[in-house]
Amino acid sequence: MSDAMMPSQLKNAIADEKYKFSKYSLDKVRNRQEARVIDTMEQLLSGGGEFCGCRLCVEDVYAISLNAVPAHYVQAGSMILRQQPPSQQDLARVVQDAIDKVKVRPNHPEQ
Ligand SMILES: [Zn+2]
Repeated sequence: MSDAMMPSQLKNAIADEKYKFSKYSLDKVRNRQEARVIDTMEQLLSGGGEFCGCRLCVEDVYAISLNAVPAHYVQAGSMILRQQPPSQQDLARVVQDAIDKVKVRPNHPEQ
């Protein structure tokens, strides 16, 4: 079965299994920057423009952006901030840099 054919419930079950330790599922502990980067990508790419937008390019922008900001893992509902997260302005600059890099050197096959 190809990944695309897999029902989402089954996919989630497999993901749950991968992030299981003892009897606990750890997949709810997320890097807080993940959702912020996605929001920022939506803002910066909503105009469409010349960005390719294929899966590879979108994943590259996401990965490059996340690698450029300090990870900040939190438990669901936890409000403890031990370090200052990057400002929205810094994050927008990081994501824009990633978009520019992927535009200049996309990893997708020649189209
Ligand atoms: Zn692409």
